[in-house]
Amino acid sequence: MFHTFPNKSKPQSPISLEKTYSLTAHYDDFQEVKYGSRYSSSTLSNGMSLHLGGSLDRSGRGRGGRDRCVGGGASPGGGAAERWSRREICLLSALVFAAGVCVILGCMLALKFLSLEAQDAQCREDCRARRSLLRAARFVQGNIDASVQPCHDFYSFACGGWLRRHGIPEDKLSYGIITGIGEQNQEKLQRLLEEPVRRTGLDSAERKVKEFYRSCVNIQEIDRLGGGPMTEVIENCGGWDFSGAPPGGAGWESGSAPVRPDFNEMLYRTQGVYSTAVFFSITVNVDDKNSSRNAIRIDQEGLTLPERTLYLGQDEDSVKILAAYKALMERLLSMLGAHNATVKSREILELEMRLANITVSEFDEQRKDISSMYNRITLKQLQRMAPSLHWKRLLDRIFHDNFSEEEEIVVLATDYMQKVSDIIKTSSKRVLHNYMLWRIVAALSEHLSTAFRSTIHEFSREIDGTERQLELGRLCLTQANKHFGMALGALFSSDLTGHGSNSSDLTGHGSNSSDLTGLVGFDPRSPTFPLEICSPALLPRQRKSRNRDPVQELVEDIKHALDVRLQELDWMDDETKEAARAKLQHMMVMTGYPEFLLKPELIDQEYGFDVNEKTYFKNILNSIKYNIKLSVKKIHQEVDKTTWLLPPQALNAYYLPNKNQMVFPAGILQPTLYDPEFPQSLNYGGIGAIIGHELTHGYDDWGGQYDRYGNLKQWWTEESYRKFQKKAECIIKLYDNFTVYNQRVNGRLTLGENIADLGGLKLSYYAYQKWIREHGPERPLPGLKYTHEQLLFIAFAQNWCMKRRSQSIYLQLLTDKHAPEHYRVIGSVSQFDEFGRVFHCPKGSPMHPVNKCSVW
Ligand SMILES: [Zn+2]
Repeated sequence: MFHTFPNKSKPQSPISLEKTYSLTAHYDDFQEVKYGSRYSSSTLSNGMSLHLGGSLDRSGRGRGGRDRCVGGGASPGGGAAERWSRREICLLSALVFAAGVCVILGCMLALKFLSLEAQDAQCREDCRARRSLLRAARFVQGNIDASVQPCHDFYSFACGGWLRRHGIPEDKLSYGIITGIGEQNQEKLQRLLEEPVRRTGLDSAERKVKEFYRSCVNIQEIDRLGGGPMTEVIENCGGWDFSGAPPGGAGWESGSAPVRPDFNEMLYRTQGVYSTAVFFSITVNVDDKNSSRNAIRIDQEGLTLPERTLYLGQDEDSVKILAAYKALMERLLSMLGAHNATVKSREILELEMRLANITVSEFDEQRKDISSMYNRITLKQLQRMAPSLHWKRLLDRIFHDNFSEEEEIVVLATDYMQKVSDIIKTSSKRVLHNYMLWRIVAALSEHLSTAFRSTIHEFSREIDGTERQLELGRLCLTQANKHFGMALGALFSSDLTGHGSNSSDLTGHGSNSSDLTGLVGFDPRSPTFPLEICSPALLPRQRKSRNRDPVQELVEDIKHALDVRLQELDWMDDETKEAARAKLQHMMVMTGYPEFLLKPELIDQEYGFDVNEKTYFKNILNSIKYNIKLSVKKIHQEVDKTTWLLPPQALNAYYLPNKNQMVFPAGILQPTLYDPEFPQSLNYGGIGAIIGHELTHGYDDWGGQYDRYGNLKQWWTEESYRKFQKKAECIIKLYDNFTVYNQRVNGRLTLGENIADLGGLKLSYYAYQKWIREHGPERPLPGLKYTHEQLLFIAFAQNWCMKRRSQSIYLQLLTDKHAPEHYRVIGSVSQFDEFGRVFHCPKGSPMHPVNKCSVW
C-alpha cells in the first residue's frame, strides 16, 4: 500500500501563522477574473451600470441635458410670444431626450439578454476552466514557502506554507493534506449512515450497516452493559485460570465430564471463534507458488505490542512502552474480574517476552526473502515440526473438515514454529490459558464501555501521545468501515452515480471520480476568492470522458513509461527485461469500485449475519464469526482475481504481488490528488506518482519475487538480480542516513516503499513528458512563476505535506514500512537528475548530489 493511515492521527502543534505574502502577491490576477465574471452577469461592455430603472443614471443624463438646455437658454433670438416658455421647451426637450435614451438603453438591454443566453453556455465552460486553474494555483501557492530554496530542501519549500498553517487535531497522531481529503470522505460517509434506511428487508446490507452504526453510537446502552459482554466471553472460555465450567460442555475436551477446556480446545476458540492469533496466525490466502488456488497459511504472530523489540527493553522508549503495557493489562484484568491481576499480568507478559525472543523482526533479512520463508508441508510434517499441538484436530474444527495427513499447508516461519512448540510444552497450562484469554480481551475491549475505552486511551497517550479519543461518530464510522466496508462502499458509490442508477459505464474504472470534485478540501484562506463566479450547481459535471476513462488513460501512460524505461536500463540483461515487460503486460488494474456494488442483493450476500441496533458488542462478534466462515469457505474455492481488498471509499491504493494486480479505489481518485479539471502536471505529480509507486511495487525487493501470474518464481537472471540488489543497497544507505528527532530511519525496513517512491516519481515525470508531446504544452497557472515541469514535482511533494506528533515518531520508525514524509519527498527528488535540471539546482547542492541512487 502506498501508505497506511492510522485511525488516530495527532496533535495541535503551534498553529500556523498565516503568511500574508503568498496570495496577495498575485491578487490582481484573481481580481481581474472576479470583475470579468461580474461583468458578464450585471454590467454592460462599456462599463455602464445596468441600474436603468434606478434614479442615478437617469439623473446623471438629466443633468447633462439640463446643462445643455441652460446653455441653449442663454442663446439670444428665441420667439418671446411662443406658447411654451423657454423653460418649458427646455424641460420638454429634456424629457424627449430622456425617453429616447431610455428606449435605446432598453433595446441594448434586450439585445444583451438575448446574446447572454447564447453566450451563457460558452461562458460557463470558460469560467469553469478559469475557476479550476485559479483553484489549482491557489492550492499550490498556498502550500509553498517561497522563502526556502527548492534546491536546498524541496519538502520545506513545497510544504512550508501548509505546515505553518496547520496543527494536528487532538485526536490524531498525524495530519496532512491527504488527511484533509479523508475527512471529506468521512463526512460524506457519516451523513450517508445517518440517512434513513431505504431497503428495510431482513437481509438488507444497507439496513445492517446503518443499524450497526446506530448500535455503536448508542454509548448509553454500551455503558449500561459495562464489561458484561466480555465477561460472558471469558466465562465461555472457562474463566481466568481455567476456573469456571464452560456452559453445556459441547465440544470441550476432557473425557465425558464437561469441566474444563484443554489447551487445544482453547486454541481453537481463540483462532476459530474469536479470530485472534495466539502463538501463530492461521489464514487462508492465495498460495504464493500456485496463485490460482487458496492455501492454509501459518505464520509467526502472538505479540500484542506491534514489534518484538518493544519487549526486549533495549532503550528508554521501549522500557517505557512495556511498563505502560503491563499497567494496561493489569488494569483491564482487574476490571474483568481476574484475581491477582498483578501476578497474572506478569506471567502473561513473561510468556509474551519468550515469544518476542523467537519472533523475527519484519525488517530482518529473513523476513524479506519470501522465497526462503515459503515452506509447503503436509499436515503430518507439521505435526512433527510442532508436536505440542494437536494440529489435525485444530484444523478439522476450524475448517469443518476431515483433513488427511497429506493435506498441504504453507508455513512461513519454520524455525519459529519449532520453537513455539517448545515454549508451549514447557509453560504452565494455566499461563497459556490466561495468555490466550488476554489476547481476546486485548482485541475486543475497545468495544466495551467508556471506562474500558478511557483505560485504553491512557495507554495510547503514554506510548504515542494521543491527546484525545476519537469522537464517537468517527470511531463508529471506522468500525463500520472495518466490518461493513463494501456495504458502506455501496452507499458511497451509489451517491456518486446518483442513487443507484444503472450507469454501469461508471463502474470498474475511475471516471466516476470526476463526480467527486465537489469534495475538495482546500484551505479556507482568501475569503474573497471568487468561487461563486459560476454556480457549481449549474455546471454539467465532466461527462465527456465517458468514452475513455481518464484515470485508466493515466495508468496506461505510466505503464508505458515503465515499459520504455525497462528497455533503456543498462544494468538489466535482455532475458530479464523481457520477463519484466511481460509482467507489466499481464498486470491487472482496477479503479473506482467493483461492479457488484450496483446490485444490492449481491452485497447482502456478503453480510449474512444478524445485526441489531441495540447490541453493539454482539454485532462485532457476529461479524467476526461470519468472516471466519467466509475464509473457511475460500479453502475449497478457486482464487477470485477480481476481489477487492479495499472498499471504494478507501483513501489508499495497493499492489498485490500474488495477483499481479493494482487497485485504486474511488476514494483516492479525488482532488487534490486527482482532479479532471486541474492541469495534467498536477495530476501526474499527484495521483500519477502514486500509480507509479504501486506499479513499481511489482518490481521491488518483495513484489519482484513474483512472476507475471503472481507466482513466487524467480524470473530474473542471477546476474540481473545481483545488480538489482546492489542498486537497492545504495537506497538502503541513503535512507539509513536520514534522522528524525535524532532517531534513525531504517533503510532496510523502508526499502520497498522507497524504491516505489523513487520509481513512481520518475515514471510519472516521463509519462507527463509523453502527454505534453501528444497534447502540447499547458496554459500557465495564473499568478505562479513555476513551469508545469516544476509543478509536477511540487504536486508530488504536496501529496506528503504532513505533520506528526513527535511522541509517535519512535513507533513509526520501528513499525512503518514508509519513510517519514519529509524523506519520502527529498529522498525521491534528490535522486532524480531531471529534478535538478528542472529547478536549475547547482550540481552538488543538497537536492542535486553528484552521486545518485537509481533503480528504475
Ligand atoms: Zn507502497
